[in-house]
Amino acid sequence: MAIERTLTIIKPDAVAGKLTGRIVERLERENFRIIAAKLVHLTQSQAEGFYAVHRERPFFSSLTKYMTEGPVLVMVLEAEDAIRRLRTVMGATDPAQAAEGTIRKQYGRSIERNVVHGSDAPETARFEIGYFFNALEIA
Ligand code: ATP
Ligand code: MG
Repeated sequence: MAIERTLTIIKPDAVAGKLTGRIVERLERENFRIIAAKLVHLTQSQAEGFYAVHRERPFFSSLTKYMTEGPVLVMVLEAEDAIRRLRTVMGATDPAQAAEGTIRKQYGRSIERNVVHGSDAPETARFEIGYFFNALEIA
């Protein structure tokens, strides 16, 4: 299995709710290495650009509003099989459907307010990492 990079976002409600430390601790415990990190308060158009694949979905407007309601912690994680493994540690989109012990099961409130984002494939990981970080910002 190859070493991969993936993008994760600790979403606004989790940052505001002071869950950042617990989630970062969990990710490090799962052997992800943080190779870039920044706290950003997304504008509406930045959130729309990030979630552009969902533009036609009924929840797009609500999702982008949620993602702009406060700062988010954006990180690049590196690990073996990072993309798939992060999705497993996060759990299903809907916290109610997420497996026991996953981050979304533990902290998520609803299918929208689900605490964390993770890239879903190598191409999306590349796009998402480049959306937030340039080469000099990745250690
Ligand atoms: P993410 O891309 O944030 O890691 P995901 O890949 O599990 O989540 P997507 O289908 O990509 O899920 O949806 C992106 C985000 O949109 C979800 O994380 C959630 O915040 C929101 N979302 C997804 N489905 C719904 C829905 N049916 N109603 C409201 N919000 C939703
Ligand atoms: Mg997704």
